[in-house]
Amino acid sequence: MSKLLNRIVLVSTIVTRVVAQNGADSMKSLKDTFSTIADIHAGKVSLGRVTVAGWLRTKRGSKKFSFLELNDGTNSKTIQVVADAVLPNYESEIQKLTIGAAVCIEGELVESKGQGQKYEIVAKNVEVYGFADPDTYPLQKKEMTYEYLREQAHFRPRTATFAAMFRIRSRVSKFIHDFFEENGFYYAHTPIFTASDCEGGGNVFQVTTLPLEKIPRTPEGKVNYSEDFFGTPSFLTVSGQLEGELMALGLGKIYTFGPTFRAENSNTSRHLAEFWQIEPEMAFWNLTDTIQLGQDLVCYCVRRFLEECNDDLDLVVARNGVDPRPWLRMTLEKPFVRVSYTEAVKILQECGEKFEFPLGWGLDLQSEHERYLCEKHFQSPTVVYDYPADLKSFYMYMNEDGKTVHGADILVPGVGEIVGSSQREHRYDVLIERMHKKGLREEDYSWYLATRKFGTVPHAGFGLGLERLLMWMTGMGNIRDVVPFPRTPKNCLY
Ligand code: ATP
Ligand code: MN
Repeated sequence: MSKLLNRIVLVSTIVTRVVAQNGADSMKSLKDTFSTIADIHAGKVSLGRVTVAGWLRTKRGSKKFSFLELNDGTNSKTIQVVADAVLPNYESEIQKLTIGAAVCIEGELVESKGQGQKYEIVAKNVEVYGFADPDTYPLQKKEMTYEYLREQAHFRPRTATFAAMFRIRSRVSKFIHDFFEENGFYYAHTPIFTASDCEGGGNVFQVTTLPLEKIPRTPEGKVNYSEDFFGTPSFLTVSGQLEGELMALGLGKIYTFGPTFRAENSNTSRHLAEFWQIEPEMAFWNLTDTIQLGQDLVCYCVRRFLEECNDDLDLVVARNGVDPRPWLRMTLEKPFVRVSYTEAVKILQECGEKFEFPLGWGLDLQSEHERYLCEKHFQSPTVVYDYPADLKSFYMYMNEDGKTVHGADILVPGVGEIVGSSQREHRYDVLIERMHKKGLREEDYSWYLATRKFGTVPHAGFGLGLERLLMWMTGMGNIRDVVPFPRTPKNCLY
């Protein structure tokens, strides 16, 4: 009997424990206790009791009260918190708060009497999540150089300028997806590991699991790749194009949007070792069509950027002192200028400008030439088309002259090339001949060549660098400042 009683008692305690745990604080949502600063400024939070959490941007005050400016990353704005000295931890904690500290504020949302802000919070309770020792915290109130901040990239998202920049990056990525979706494209995921190097250009990062201290060799002394992970030399992709073509030659219109990698040891303000590329590919399209698509995509992004990102852009502009909006608006007003490579070279040779690099038909246009064309000569985004075949990749469509290919670059002021496009060579014999000329082996591209043997069609596409587009749209001068964690020669931190 007593045993049974014991059991009943045991069961009932377990039941109460389960009930208690379900209602316990440990399982309550944390995020649901907060309102975001974005929602407050959007008027979505009613006046009265409110809780917010964020990082301290500035603090001023006295023995009697303090004003804390908080930002939580949800948008460009801060909210002012008034903390009165009557708060129990005023002296012990609140007065010790410095820039970068993280706090949770419970208080009263009121309409602000001060200028420049609509709302403020009168604090009832200030909980400190984390102090930020001002002697060692890398961010200071005074303006810090971009060079310095690159060395502190782990804290750049906490600065007003970079938080704005990275929100813009997120928004623009969304615009790009929207554009393609609205125009009937499918999003294709092309591989990052690849055994082909796309352009045959070098500049590739090799990927291996072979022990570098003790590389396995064949009897002839060569690296024995049969022991490597993929059983063949493999690389990080420099472009999703070739696989993108395979997808387009079945789905019609596709685009890729992903990271691409180039071991360019150039250290310029426009090159990253890892950058994000958007690569549409369209079956039954020609060069004219793909150039138009490039222009339409760029203009679509600019239009939505000007409509939706002004608050963040204001912060970037305030820091740089250059407002890109006038030139962006101009861009929307007229079609991009189109000029053949041959004409472009003539213009550059006759313009009287002193260039560092040589000019001549057959030589590649350098950044200074590209920028002269669009910044000074045409004062417009400029499309240069029909380049000498020797300057461009094997897959570009050979023109009737036998010397130039149907490839085009879009150049923009301040940056230079942002889009590289071409109609693809879809004629099997011509493609094979071009590959031989470039020293490429057929067997390495058998799958690519197969698409030209079976049901081949004219097709075209381009590659747009997301970071170059962002530089141009925001007026940022260095590509390292439009990507959260730049990868450049000798720099792979984080
Ligand atoms: P560039 O001549 O400026 O080095 P590219 O002709 O080698 O560029 P493409 O192979 O045509 O470049 O690549 C398509 C697009 O990708 C370029 O128009 C550019 O916007 C972007 N891009 C190319 N290389 C880089 C890089 N290293 N870092 C950032 N973006 C790049
Ligand atoms: Mn190019």
